[in-house]
Amino acid sequence: MPAPFTPIIGRFAPSPSGPLHQGSLVAAIGSYLSAKAQGGQWLLRMEDIDHHRCRPAAVGQIQRQLAALALEWDGEILFQSQRRERYREVLNELRDRGLAYACGCTRQSLLATAGQCPCLHHPPAQARSFRLAIPKDCLTDWQDRYQGVQKATYPHLAPVLQRADGPYAYLLANVVDDADQGISEVIRGADLLDLTPIQQFLQGQLHYPRPHYGHLPVVLGPDGKKLSKSRGDHDQSNPSWAWERTLALLGWEIPRELVGSPPMLWRDWALQRCLQGQKMLARSFGSPPHEPIPYPDCKQSQELHP
Ligand SMILES: [Zn+2]
Repeated sequence: MPAPFTPIIGRFAPSPSGPLHQGSLVAAIGSYLSAKAQGGQWLLRMEDIDHHRCRPAAVGQIQRQLAALALEWDGEILFQSQRRERYREVLNELRDRGLAYACGCTRQSLLATAGQCPCLHHPPAQARSFRLAIPKDCLTDWQDRYQGVQKATYPHLAPVLQRADGPYAYLLANVVDDADQGISEVIRGADLLDLTPIQQFLQGQLHYPRPHYGHLPVVLGPDGKKLSKSRGDHDQSNPSWAWERTLALLGWEIPRELVGSPPMLWRDWALQRCLQGQKMLARSFGSPPHEPIPYPDCKQSQELHP
């Protein structure tokens, strides 16, 4: 096990493709409560590396939403779009060490080879992407703070570190930023569970410390699909409600007298509960281990709390 971190530094790292939705609020509030209840810092990072997906206006919208929820971040916001040089440096290091390789495969050529990329042993004339080489038996099972021991599964295809059209992949940028910002704990949505052992492999290869990981449930829209900022699943309701819904999704028991309170009261109450031993995830994920939970619609909420 890696040495415990001091100090505790958590983070919330949205991609500014639109305003935050209920799924992002679970990660925002969960990561905030965890870091602050331990007396730590909570950093804000804009994962705006892919300019095709990001909207400049969303950066301000997200900041206003967090401020309205009484979630104050520490220090300056880190923008991934300003760190391309740093990612390039790390990718070059991985290439020099034979851990990243040029891939010339197209979608069509991968279909023809049943998803097998031959480029590690047969370098292409022209690189379309750079992939991470993960030797057999190098992914290890790991402990999730909320969900216990997780099995590592090998990806079908070597993960991309940089795509043909330029942007660095989440896998690389996220690992480099977490290390450079001294992040000690990563609290995020369970849709990233499968990526975690790959990120941990990369951390090991780069001699970075390994943060603690805790994954919270993924929230589904009324159509059963994962919520998405770019799809328009914004959370337009008032911040007090957003606190109530988020804590209810995590399985917390909410005292009736708190309903409708200002966000600052919700925040202070929730922090106090954490200090008293409240479990962050007070409901079972069920089976499979990261089964998504349905998004309660506003009508239901109103009926519960008129
Ligand atoms: Zn290839």
